[in-house]
Amino acid sequence: MANTIWVLVELEDGAPVRSSLEVLGKAAKLGRAEAVVLGSAAAEVAPTLGEYGAEKVYVHADAAYDNYLTLPAVETISQLVQQHQPTLILLPTTYDVRDMAARLSIRSGMGLITDATDLTIGDDGVKVTVPWGGETIVTATLTQQRPGIVLTRPKAFSIEQYSGRNAEIETINTTISAEAQTIRILETVEVKSEGPALEDASVVVSGGRGLGKAENFHYVEELAEVLNGAPGATRAIVDAGWLPYSYQVGQTGKTVKPTLYIAAGISGAIQHLAGMKGSKYIVAINKDEHAPIFSVADLGVIGDAVAILPKLTNEIKSRKA
Ligand code: FAD
Repeated sequence: MANTIWVLVELEDGAPVRSSLEVLGKAAKLGRAEAVVLGSAAAEVAPTLGEYGAEKVYVHADAAYDNYLTLPAVETISQLVQQHQPTLILLPTTYDVRDMAARLSIRSGMGLITDATDLTIGDDGVKVTVPWGGETIVTATLTQQRPGIVLTRPKAFSIEQYSGRNAEIETINTTISAEAQTIRILETVEVKSEGPALEDASVVVSGGRGLGKAENFHYVEELAEVLNGAPGATRAIVDAGWLPYSYQVGQTGKTVKPTLYIAAGISGAIQHLAGMKGSKYIVAINKDEHAPIFSVADLGVIGDAVAILPKLTNEIKSRKA
């Protein structure tokens, strides 16, 4: 029997999020990809998912999932898993999924492997590649017979197009229990940021401790802005309180894959490299010629980032004018 891989397709403003579609494309390469889509826009989204690899879509168009996905989704998906026993549930690492997957694993007794960068399914089971601490690559396997859950790293896979594929749609008839609706979001405060999101930007300019002080980070932001990119940071300066965690690039932060990554005053610790070494071109500015960041840089500039960044910004501005 073909392996069946389920993907929960998360919705944002009524549309599927990119990371769900990336994972759906990978699921279609592994076997029969089936999507689960929950929320008030689920019925409209479902027919479009064939184009991204789904052969079947389970749909529950209920607004209860819209504000707080976790508890209702755990309830519905655990019921579905009981009925259909897919081989695997494959999910991208998002805030909601991290919350949901842990509960789903406990509720349904399913094994859970996180932080995967790749996986295969063979006669000997599901084999999952997990980078460990930046230096070691672990191959983990789900040994139990029942379905397991694998969470993949952001940007591990690309969206695949399956033009003309029409997914079979099954509408789920279930009532979400009152217990699953006990949490309500009282207020959502959106942090407005200008320019592209760090994960999606084609240019990322990141700063590290070499900037000297928090007040110098604006040099990074200004260069990012003039390049229509996003600013990022190392954990050192996030931990120091210069910036919120949302800026952190690396093993325990965001994974970015821009066309151009500029690292200013960053040593190049293995945990930072884990989040940016997939960038197409890397430019490093560091005053220490032996800094490890130069080992991954396509262009290395030995010098003071605080002096170089504003000059670079002004030069680009003058050429754009
Ligand atoms: P430093 O290592 O202190 O480097 C500063 C660099 O700036 C030096 O190379 C110095 O030569 C240079 N410099 C100094 N002055 C100037 C100047 N004027 N101009 C130019 N260059 C200058 N780190 C991350 O970034 N992301 C993660 O997700 C992450 N996860 C981690 C997870 C674990 C479990 C652990 C143990 C660590 C993790 N770290 C992570 C921390 C990581 O190991 C490093 O400590 C951190 O990346 C260092 O940040 P930095 O390069 O800003 O600082």
